[in-house]
Amino acid sequence: MNLELKEGLGLRKNLRGEKIFDVAVIGGGVAGLSLAALLSNKYRVVVFEKSRSLGGRARIAERDGFILDYGIHTCRFADRGVVAELFNKLGIPISFHSSNATVYSNGFHKVPKGVKGFLKTKLLPFRGRLVLLRLMLKLLRLNPRDVVGVTVHEFVKDFTEREDVYTLVSALVGSGIVCPDMKKASLCEAVTFAKKAVKSKYTGGYPVGGWKYIIDSLKKKIIENGGEIRLNSEVEKIEVSGNVAEGVVVRDELIDAKVIVVAFPLQRICSIVDRHLLPKSFVEKVVNLEPTSGISLDLALKEKVSDIDSVIITLQPVIMGQFTSNIYAETSPKGEQLATFYYPLPYDKMNDRKYLHRKLEEMKEMLEEMFPGILRKTKWDRVLYLKVVDGAIPKPGQTYFERPDYRCPTIENMFFVGDTTRAEGNGGDIAFRSALECANIIENYFNYFYERK
Ligand SMILES: Cc1cc2nc3c(=O)[nH]c(=O)nc-3n(C[C@H](O)[C@H](O)[C@H](O)COP(=O)(O)OP(=O)(O)OC[C@H]3O[C@@H](n4cnc5c(N)ncnc54)[C@H](O)[C@@H]3O)c2cc1C
Repeated sequence: MNLELKEGLGLRKNLRGEKIFDVAVIGGGVAGLSLAALLSNKYRVVVFEKSRSLGGRARIAERDGFILDYGIHTCRFADRGVVAELFNKLGIPISFHSSNATVYSNGFHKVPKGVKGFLKTKLLPFRGRLVLLRLMLKLLRLNPRDVVGVTVHEFVKDFTEREDVYTLVSALVGSGIVCPDMKKASLCEAVTFAKKAVKSKYTGGYPVGGWKYIIDSLKKKIIENGGEIRLNSEVEKIEVSGNVAEGVVVRDELIDAKVIVVAFPLQRICSIVDRHLLPKSFVEKVVNLEPTSGISLDLALKEKVSDIDSVIITLQPVIMGQFTSNIYAETSPKGEQLATFYYPLPYDKMNDRKYLHRKLEEMKEMLEEMFPGILRKTKWDRVLYLKVVDGAIPKPGQTYFERPDYRCPTIENMFFVGDTTRAEGNGGDIAFRSALECANIIENYFNYFYERK
């Protein structure tokens, strides 16, 4: 699209005679790639990614014939989720291996769904089931906006003293919003998640072709549309003049763009923007956003250990994982299996080595309890101690009503996407949805500030 500046709107035309990009996206994770894919059919878009590969926290690694996601990666609500919505909008086909989660508690059980499911579940005695059902019905009637400052703990404790119900809610809600600590988990986020969960046939899905398909498809779309992707290109600085971003500095070179989008977790915004250009309250808020954290454990198994082809959630402690190769066979060599499990842990414990070692052992014990012999059948494992899993833990103060907006409060042509922004959902959903919503805002921005020739 050919864009010409409207006169007198405070934006300066580039006079250096260099090529001007319409949009410079900083970060080639799923948020940056999604946004670039959406905008590149109308605008000249460039993506700068500091590392050698795309995907950010959803990147893929290959080892000995295994294809490893960066920890367990599923798409909430499968074909009813935001990844499907995005791909639909982009005209890219996508399908999922959809399933409902399995809960482990002295054996494997289907995750309860619907009134019948709650009344029949073996995860609780009959009275407990009735309490859980009434609690869930009450939760579903809440308006998320009315409970922004409330935790799930407060809600459940106010409703029942039953520990077994509390434990099950922690696992079901906690795995859904990736915050099993109910004293931290936001009721507003839990209600929003639960309302979507009851409408969706499946709790989740794994994309056919894996996350590699998601990343490769977005990349392909950007390139087909004439966009550019530059790897090994760390943006060192956003050059700002007055309240307008002029461009980005990469290896000492200024690259102009009409719109700049920061597509990495906003805790690190001051690494590329002078903090004095941003409101103090904004800086304080974003740099202190608390992420979710934990241990991810991949096991490359030399033989088959389990047939389960859905996400598995344990109750105490809450650990979640899957045999990815049962869901998508290409992720392991024939006859072997890939299992990936994740143990959410408090952020402030992620520097405590002894604690982490203990938690890893706990995780392995739980795996051995569920699948006797699994550790013996492991060829090799990969342990990741992750300080940032999802960009912002869904706690009061960090709900989607409270997370940072897509627009920079002071720099008029600078925008934010990614999983620390105000988009609804959890983790990757936030990243994808932020791209969908921010793409509209950027289009409106261009329509307002520029005239089409
Ligand atoms: C173990 C684990 C399990 C997860 N499981 C799920 C799941 O099951 N479902 C789900 O929906 N989500 C899941 N998530 C969360 C999901 O991966 C993230 O929410 C999502 O990938 C975030 O994408 P993003 O683009 O916002 O940020 P990132 O992925 O962090 O991307 C930011 C990119 O910006 C680049 N960058 C940073 N600074 C610069 C710079 N100055 N210049 C250029 N480039 C820069 C980085 O290298 C990175 O590639 C999981 C995450 C982890 C870690």
